[in-house]
Amino acid sequence: MNNSKIWLSSPHMGGSERNYVNEAFETNWVAPLGPNVNGFEADLEKYLGSTVHVGALSSGTAAIHLGLVLLGVQAGDAVICQSMTFSASANPILYLGAAPVFVDSEEDTWNLCPLVLEEAILDSINKGKKPKAIIAVHLYGMPFKVDEIKAIAEKYQIPILEDSAEALGSTYKGQQCGTFGTIGVLSFNGNKIITTSGGGAIVTPTKELKDKAVFLATQARDNAAHYQHSEVGYNYRMSNICAGIGRGQMEVLDAHVTLRRKMNDFYKELFQDIEGITVFDAPNTDYVSNHWLTAIVVDSAKTNGITSEKIRLALEKENIESRPLWKPMHLQPVFENYSYYGKNVAQNLFESGLCLPSGSNLTDEDRLRIKKVFLELLKL
Ligand SMILES: *Cc1c(COP(=O)(O)O)cnc(C)c1O
Repeated sequence: MNNSKIWLSSPHMGGSERNYVNEAFETNWVAPLGPNVNGFEADLEKYLGSTVHVGALSSGTAAIHLGLVLLGVQAGDAVICQSMTFSASANPILYLGAAPVFVDSEEDTWNLCPLVLEEAILDSINKGKKPKAIIAVHLYGMPFKVDEIKAIAEKYQIPILEDSAEALGSTYKGQQCGTFGTIGVLSFNGNKIITTSGGGAIVTPTKELKDKAVFLATQARDNAAHYQHSEVGYNYRMSNICAGIGRGQMEVLDAHVTLRRKMNDFYKELFQDIEGITVFDAPNTDYVSNHWLTAIVVDSAKTNGITSEKIRLALEKENIESRPLWKPMHLQPVFENYSYYGKNVAQNLFESGLCLPSGSNLTDEDRLRIKKVFLELLKL
């Protein structure tokens, strides 16, 4: 058996990406604007299926930053953020000089716990700092409890910034993730379900808001021949080359979702009779995850002491990448001075969970190699 590296999630080209990129070269649209940017945005709008508008940006992080700017977040404001997430969900809060308020996860979706969210909002209000926004994440592609979270956001009139960076192609009650927030965010980084090599998008309910995002993303130039600026601008627009890759990737997005979901089925079958290893899956049929990454939780009391770390090392020895779950933000040194609400749901998940190779480009041989490691480790 060959021993080439099996990645957690690596880029998977469909084939026609190069055509769009070549066209950009042939027409000299080698710039952060052009037909591929417009075409990619139109493809995404069509895919997301409701009446949203999409602005293609240089990264998902840039989209979160601009999203917070559009929601009026300023220095000194409080912004609620799911603690269990990738740091890019929270870093833009600090870019703006605002203060994150971290909220724990619940067990069903591993995302924002509605009860703790309300507790955090009420306590912040009592302290005279009503949160300016709620950053809610669909972790690993699993939709958060949309109805419950939206009801709380509406009750307290706080906008939701929906971090759908990991959830393009996931749905909740039949509606695409990315379309639930006051503002939505997508990412096309190299490891995401589709990639533009690096990129992101902002999803807005109105064309005005999208236009404002694009205005800010292109240095906030006022309408004048000379360069005139009344607002702070950013250089966050997507390159027309990258957008060409994105257009090709859109042609295979649904196929990639199917393949990622098949990887999840593979793991469910592999572990179905194994005591102590649980594959993370949707709580009910309202939630359809793209299963960007498949994660397991290991109860080492039931696996003869085999921990998630032992599994990670055994896989690594066979040149197979796996990764602990996102370490919650409230446990990160960079965020240690900010407040946190919750118990230890996210922390417990972090300590016992592991993400397994989940790419849409994995082969039968790859799956065999992964399976072999588990069969040997668990002495089956
Ligand atoms: C990847 C990711 C981002 C950031 O996207 P980039 O395009 O890498 O900047 C934000 N939030 C989450 C949850 C992510 O996984």
